[in-house]
Amino acid sequence: MAEVQNRIELEVPPGEVVVRHAECPNGCDLMDPEVEIHGHPSIRVAYEHADRKGEVHLDPIYGSHDNLFDRELPEGTIMELSCPSCQVALRDPDATCTKCSAGMFTLHLPKGGFVEACQRKGCFHHKLRIVTGEQMMQRLFDEVGMDAYL
Ligand SMILES: [Zn+2]
Ligand SMILES: [Zn+2]
Repeated sequence: MAEVQNRIELEVPPGEVVVRHAECPNGCDLMDPEVEIHGHPSIRVAYEHADRKGEVHLDPIYGSHDNLFDRELPEGTIMELSCPSCQVALRDPDATCTKCSAGMFTLHLPKGGFVEACQRKGCFHHKLRIVTGEQMMQRLFDEVGMDAYL
């Protein structure tokens, strides 16, 4: 696994950084400067649950969860999130939440970083990764290799 040696990864502690440039996998800008949360532009994504569709503005402060929904959704609801511009699914088919086993969604950041978060409302499990190098190799390393170090 020589690729792993070329990789730089930072796991950022909650509450210390603000996501300023989030994109969908196709490169659409998801930032919404018209709706601010904690004084910062929020991240606008579409959601679908049962037959209900709507939009949610995600709290851009990593580790903070004051998301704004366009309607009341019960805690525990698992949403399918997508890009409001091109409708691509944000769900990562390879990732599940290690806390509640719901699907995870991914927001792309500049320079190959990404935020991965649980699609279940009320589950606050998420990760911010600043990664260089090949991301699938990264994930493989996570799943196969990290336990050996803990
Ligand atoms: Zn898009
Ligand atoms: Zn979860």
